[in-house]
Amino acid sequence: MDTKNLMFPKPKDKKRNRKQSSEKIEKDFCIMPPNNLYEIKRIGNLKRHEVFFGSKQRQLSIKYGLVIFLTDERHNMSDEGIHFNKEFDLKVKIIAQKAFMSYYHKTEEDFIKIFGKSYI
Ligand SMILES: [Zn+2]
Repeated sequence: MDTKNLMFPKPKDKKRNRKQSSEKIEKDFCIMPPNNLYEIKRIGNLKRHEVFFGSKQRQLSIKYGLVIFLTDERHNMSDEGIHFNKEFDLKVKIIAQKAFMSYYHKTEEDFIKIFGKSYI
């Protein structure tokens, strides 16, 4: 009998709470340049939007300050909202990529490594 496996009875249900707790913390770090498309601070009841909002990218957006603040309507409560308006979405992604590259002194290649593709 192979006892190897028995020596490490690590419980499988050791799920980390990290995700939950980090989501609760309101991180509003933002490196986006001011623009009339969005706000760069949480004002009133604006909602935070992570510019790159794929499952993995969402946390990266927060980490790197690639977030903007929008009214519900400009966010996801109307067809004009960034989640449905491709043109608006792309515009902001281009701004974000440029902001990322200049703020962190990164190349386009660096950006692709982190966010998967280039938008510029
Ligand atoms: Zn959003």
